[in-house]
Amino acid sequence: MTTKGNISVHTENIFPIIKKFLYSDHEIFLRELVSNAVDATQKLKTLSSSGEAKGELGDLKILVKLDTEAKTLHIIDSGIGMTEEEVGKYINQLAFSSAEEFLDKYKDKGAQVIGHFGLGFYSAFMVAHQVEIITKSYKEDAPAVKWSCDGSTSYEISASDKTERGTEVILHFAEDSLEFNDSFRIKGILEKYCKFLPVEIEYEEKVINNPAPLWTKAPSECTKEDYENFYKELYPFSETPLFWIHLNVDYPFKLTGILYFPKIKNDFEPQKNKIQLYSNQVFVTDSVQEIVPEFLMLLQGVIDSPDIPLNVSRSYLQSDSNVKKINSHITKKVADKLEEIFKADRTEFNNKWESIGLFVKYGMITDEKFYDRASKFCLLQNKAKELFTLEEYKEKVSATQTDKDNKIVYLYTNDLKAHDSFCQTAEKRGYDVILMDGPLDNHFISNIEHKLENTTWKRVDSESIDKLIDKDIKTESVLSEAEQSSLKESFEKQFGAAGKFKFETEALAPDDHFLTLIKPEWERRMADMQKMQGMSMFGAFPESWNVVLNTNHDLARKLVKLDDAEKTPVLQQAFDLAKLSQNLLHGEELTNFIQRNYDRLK
Ligand code: ADP
Repeated sequence: MTTKGNISVHTENIFPIIKKFLYSDHEIFLRELVSNAVDATQKLKTLSSSGEAKGELGDLKILVKLDTEAKTLHIIDSGIGMTEEEVGKYINQLAFSSAEEFLDKYKDKGAQVIGHFGLGFYSAFMVAHQVEIITKSYKEDAPAVKWSCDGSTSYEISASDKTERGTEVILHFAEDSLEFNDSFRIKGILEKYCKFLPVEIEYEEKVINNPAPLWTKAPSECTKEDYENFYKELYPFSETPLFWIHLNVDYPFKLTGILYFPKIKNDFEPQKNKIQLYSNQVFVTDSVQEIVPEFLMLLQGVIDSPDIPLNVSRSYLQSDSNVKKINSHITKKVADKLEEIFKADRTEFNNKWESIGLFVKYGMITDEKFYDRASKFCLLQNKAKELFTLEEYKEKVSATQTDKDNKIVYLYTNDLKAHDSFCQTAEKRGYDVILMDGPLDNHFISNIEHKLENTTWKRVDSESIDKLIDKDIKTESVLSEAEQSSLKESFEKQFGAAGKFKFETEALAPDDHFLTLIKPEWERRMADMQKMQGMSMFGAFPESWNVVLNTNHDLARKLVKLDDAEKTPVLQQAFDLAKLSQNLLHGEELTNFIQRNYDRLK
């Protein structure tokens, strides 16, 4: 006997609307249908272990079969099945009303919710013009039934001769969805969404999933090899990760997962191995910005939580309290792990610093709580490639590098080659120079400078050596006041016209350079900031340099005794050398310099 009926709706053509709303994400229909098959199978297992379902369970594998000739896709499970009554209740009423509710709620915000609303069974109509369900309940003597619906609001139920327990859903692909009538496409979708579903899924005679992925196991049962193999399973062509964190939370929310620290090169590559988000082993998305703190986006791996509300819009997700808790939990776990390695094996930690340093600094800049934790194990590397914690470094330099205002001055370079002569000058004074050449280091410096008490950071070339760490020790100038200003004026006359160079005299040690080109720390930072923001509202910061004349240098004494004609070539030569040491001698100036010096050799 065939029963005909109408699905009770108010919206007449709900299917075209479903189609339209979920347009860009049609492929999720398969995730929904296979998940339903998995649920039905899991339910059967539960009923069987409680004794409610009798008899052998048999093979519970789920089969996905594509018949390209008939243009049909079959999803077959051996789960609990449905009685006729249940089909009426779950498919005709319940499933439909949730589809309807979805439309009601999100009519205006369609685009936002795409992919975040499990539309369930009715998502089949995004791709099929006709859907059949052939199902037989686990309940003894329940006859099998066949349900069929052509995408209008009416359906048919009739008897079926299906003898095995379980459900087969058959999709007849619609003309405009024939892209899915393609074996590769189906395989791709299954691999994307169903790779870790908890019940075996067979497609083209192969099981496509790993039903017991590592994150579902107890951390105590997993070996280093297991973690490394699982990483390979997630990201087949990637280098072995540095270390990992196995998340396993029960309260106040449920969360499992494994986060991996990849080897990060010293620049920001577009992240290809993204963290994948699962809900009970069903892949949901790999855009997890809302769930994972931004700085942790450099991590890889999986997070699985049934408590993350997936069926809502992203803006809602951001304000969701569970999501916030998950966020801070993950941050805490990451800090725990880093601290654990730091404490257990400092050498190991030092060795890994090159890869994790960028990540730790990023975290410290963007997350206060993480800063507090990480300030214990964040390392600074000096020119000699030695690594120190912030505390250790302070200890190291405080005796030698404290200035007259009791501030400890941290000297750094972001370019060892360019600043070589500045570094050497500093080292001659017994100072230490930190290497800060990472992509985030400028940010990191301004961030940390605020937080460390009584410290200031200066790039080695930002001041003449005595002012770099001003200890208020006056060196007598060999030149008289008058001689000093006359020397300065000579330079100004010859090179000062464009305003690019400002000259000042200073009594330095006789073996310090005669001329030093410097750029004050704050001025350089401003210019860097402008460059980064691609500004500027106020026009580009004019390029300017300070030129320090060492009045105690032999040349200074020599120069004041020369007349103007004799002075000019010496000043030129000295000034070119100063420019050369800051890599500022280019083009014609450089050519002239070389020519002039060859001429001298003749
Ligand atoms: P949801 O899965 O979110 O409950 P669906 O629209 O996907 O919503 O499915 C509605 C209901 O139909 C399910 O809750 C389940 O009771 C029933 N159902 C769907 N697919 C199957 C299946 N393969 N086997 C048994 N019951 C099913």
